[in-house]
Amino acid sequence: MSFSAHIITLFPDLFPGPLGASVLGRGMADGLWSLSTTQLRDFATDRHRTVDDTPSGGGAGMVLKPDILARAIDAVSPEGDPRPRLLMSPRGMPLTQAKARELALGPGAVIVCGRFEGVDQRVIEARGLQEVSIGDYVLAGGEVAAMVLLEAVVRLIPGVLGGAESHADESFENGLLEYPQYTRPQSWEGRDIPAVLTSGDHGKVEKWRRAESEALTRARRPDLLK
Ligand code: SAH
Repeated sequence: MSFSAHIITLFPDLFPGPLGASVLGRGMADGLWSLSTTQLRDFATDRHRTVDDTPSGGGAGMVLKPDILARAIDAVSPEGDPRPRLLMSPRGMPLTQAKARELALGPGAVIVCGRFEGVDQRVIEARGLQEVSIGDYVLAGGEVAAMVLLEAVVRLIPGVLGGAESHADESFENGLLEYPQYTRPQSWEGRDIPAVLTSGDHGKVEKWRRAESEALTRARRPDLLK
């Protein structure tokens, strides 16, 4: 069974967007993963197809109604669906490479995209939604966040991006940022590729890359070294 992603959103037309391009799009065409969307509004029951209401207790904005969202979740992911249910949310656990790798090894994900001020707390609890954040800033909706999450996950699905070796050195995979990369021409605008990289000495190249990775990480992201 290949990785199956299902998005619940008020803007299904935004998908697959970037997820349909390049290697991810090819992986989808090859059946390595699949993507479906559900229009949340289809689960509204009044003639205005209302999905939101004002916050209890007052305040700005609107909140997605629990009954309608729950109906959508139950239709997409009935009991027994092994896929985790995620809610994109700035309050969630931060998305990391480790989390992306864990999801990539699993059966897929059902992803709820919030809008407005967010979703009624009761549906988060009643349907066991895991809140996931893509960073400490606030977006207008969960759709772009869901794309970020899926892009990070899908490229790790075996076969999507070639060999597993191509991930081993990447930023965050070994707790370090990646070393600087170069390609031809050998000399460009007076800048040369570091000589060690063209020396043909693989041991020296490895040592140089490791040292560069450590120096970069110490300078830019000392938090990763802890
Ligand atoms: N009032 C909320 C923010 C709502 S933003 C709060 O202060 O926490 C509207 C929707 O955008 C959210 O429901 C969520 O689905 C999405 N979103 C916004 N920022 C996000 C982030 N950093 N990570 C993931 N999803 C985010």
